[in-house]
Amino acid sequence: MLKFIVTATPPTPNGDLHLGHLSGPFLAADVMQRRLKYLGHDVLFVTYSDDYQSYLPRKTQALRRKPFAYARLMRQAMTLSLELVNIRFDTFMQAADTPAYQHAGEHYARLVAEQTQCKAHKTFYCTDCNLYGYEGFGRTQCNWCGTSSDTSQCEHCARVPDVEQISTMTCMSCQGQMQPVQVKQHIWKIGQNYPAVRHALARRPMRNCLSDYLAEVLSNENECWPLTRPGDAGVPVAALDNYPVHTWFLGLAGYRSCVESYLAAHPERGEFAQWWTPDTELVHLLGFDCSYSHAVGYSSLLMADQSGPRPGTFITNRFLKLDGEDFSTSRGHAVWIKDLAGQYPADAIRLFCALTAPETAVSNFSREQFQEWYQQSFLPLAKRAEQITDAASLSAAQVESLRSHASYLRWQTFASLEAFSIAGMAQAALDFAAVIQADEALSGAPQAWQLLGELMQPLCPDLADTLFALTACDEQPAKVLHESA
Ligand SMILES: [Zn+2]
Ligand SMILES: [Zn+2]
Repeated sequence: MLKFIVTATPPTPNGDLHLGHLSGPFLAADVMQRRLKYLGHDVLFVTYSDDYQSYLPRKTQALRRKPFAYARLMRQAMTLSLELVNIRFDTFMQAADTPAYQHAGEHYARLVAEQTQCKAHKTFYCTDCNLYGYEGFGRTQCNWCGTSSDTSQCEHCARVPDVEQISTMTCMSCQGQMQPVQVKQHIWKIGQNYPAVRHALARRPMRNCLSDYLAEVLSNENECWPLTRPGDAGVPVAALDNYPVHTWFLGLAGYRSCVESYLAAHPERGEFAQWWTPDTELVHLLGFDCSYSHAVGYSSLLMADQSGPRPGTFITNRFLKLDGEDFSTSRGHAVWIKDLAGQYPADAIRLFCALTAPETAVSNFSREQFQEWYQQSFLPLAKRAEQITDAASLSAAQVESLRSHASYLRWQTFASLEAFSIAGMAQAALDFAAVIQADEALSGAPQAWQLLGELMQPLCPDLADTLFALTACDEQPAKVLHESA
């Protein structure tokens, strides 16, 4: 049994969760942690509310609310949305209310303080609104790829925009032009760690878009990353002269403090020192736009901290579109998880989101397609699963033949850490279901459905429970009698 910490990128508490979140890191992280637990591993499944993200005050200014009070409400809303689709984190930490988060931030700031320099650095500022354009309050064009972005991490190419290369910025509060100013910031000369990070990540499985990205980014060993943002949302840290550190640097502090605060409340799961060690595997599910902070920033921090886990596995996703347009919490262009979960079974939402997950390329959600798939594919399978009888029994050779069926083997590959893909798992499971249904001898045999239950377990936990319950040898006859009575 190994120890795994599975993380999903912390959502900004500026609104509820929509399908873009679900088909991004959340469902994949849940499928991953369910699979690892099924294999008998000890797993902590964590995320937290990203309370120090400047998109939160941007939202609460417009709503005339207090940021952390709103963040607490949104954390409740997000927790409920996740539960409606059977996703339950061990901890969904409220960062603003967890002292361990600030302590972990200090810890990592101390580790890198010697590699930082405090100096005047260009940023943008709106005099009318008294706002800085470090991130949520300023919009510009990414100097690397030219798409609309803030200057923190480009949502499209995932590079950290070089503010020296940027000449104009729009204030997101008044829509006026921000002016360039010089602000004293702590700049981390992070590039000196890149040879070690390259070495540590070389053996890690990752999708091609991330390996291509890292090959380019990690080649610049002179790269600097501004860490502090005076006048912006962030956590002041003593190690960096009590300047506020931004939330992207703090993500690893977030995951670490999730583990620490959870174990403090659940000592039966072990001690922090037993979990936060090089023997524990980190598995991060993240949007591709978070590649810099996670694969580059947190790997650099983990390499500097010999007592904790080694840099882990980073599984990236691209964006989901809605009817061809970007999901947007601020514009309300979204399908909210709560709305959909009021109309469809959780399993149907999960399985369709897995099938169409934007793992390596942008994908699109349309309600019409979902409704059609639900009627034609999901519903017949769910109904069929409730009518399993023990009409037939399979020989050991027949069971073995099913276990070596191409779809069953394909599923095993996609369920592995090395080639993890919820889209691949979902398609393979449906293909396997079709194989069973197409053959009378198989579809009459509980053993065949039991095998399907194994494949459905991380994707559709309710359907898997049905399959396992109806095919359990000793209970099954009574259950069938009861159902037909
Ligand atoms: Zn870009
Ligand atoms: Zn303004």
